[in-house]
Amino acid sequence: MPGSIDLHTHSTASDGTTPPETLVRAASEAGLAVVALTDHDTTEGWDAAAAALPDGLRLVRGAEISCSRGGVSLHLLGYLFDPDDAALAEQLGVLRDSRVSRAERMVAMLVADGHPVSWEQVREHADGTVGRPHIARALIDSGLVATIEEAFTSDWIGTRGRYWAGKHELDVIDAMHLVHAAGGVTVFAHPGADGRGRTVGDDVIEEMAAAGLGGLEVDHVDHTPETRERLRAMAGSLGLLVTGSSDFHGSNKQVRLGENATAPGVLDEIASRATGVDVL
Ligand SMILES: [Zn+2]
Ligand SMILES: [Zn+2]
Repeated sequence: MPGSIDLHTHSTASDGTTPPETLVRAASEAGLAVVALTDHDTTEGWDAAAAALPDGLRLVRGAEISCSRGGVSLHLLGYLFDPDDAALAEQLGVLRDSRVSRAERMVAMLVADGHPVSWEQVREHADGTVGRPHIARALIDSGLVATIEEAFTSDWIGTRGRYWAGKHELDVIDAMHLVHAAGGVTVFAHPGADGRGRTVGDDVIEEMAAAGLGGLEVDHVDHTPETRERLRAMAGSLGLLVTGSSDFHGSNKQVRLGENATAPGVLDEIASRATGVDVL
């Protein structure tokens, strides 16, 4: 939708297929007013996106941080934090290193079972941090699967699947404290995306709200209308902001930029609470 605000996208700095500079151009061509770049566990794409920012498009710099609580994985969006904050930058580095070693473990398991894939082949698909979509692309190259979706099933590298390996995750409350200390605002990404695996209960959302969570990403492609309604009510009762976004990954996922959007007043509120970096 023209003029809309999309607060969650991925570039080649993590597991998207669009370089940051191309992503901002595509966001502008799609008619967005604001786009947030939120690569997994990295701020690597920020500078390239900022340098290429077209007139009329604003950029929110952020990251999507790999977290867990009580053994359940979850994703935390951090917006407008200081990328040079030492404590946060160090923990993001630990998460990135762990992404590489888990990908190496998955490739090793595939190789051990005689599948014709190699680490070099996976690396060729990754410009930034290696992720599962890069392994999926190597599986397609080798003719083992036909699509990315097929690679993400339990027969291959889907969560807890045959060739899946876990990665390091930050306790979500610790991660929130790190982002807040770095001047950022936190939003719980796709809290009800149960198609991806287990999701945390309402008690964890309440705990996060008490620890200063800014909002819930309610309008997300992985949420049914019923889930959105439930989360919206919960955000209302806990005094949390409601955001919406595409979670765009280029051709690695079938969503369009701006497919879900955030209200302008919500972005104003996020921007006014943040003290790390400004919206560009
Ligand atoms: Zn996510
Ligand atoms: Zn994402």
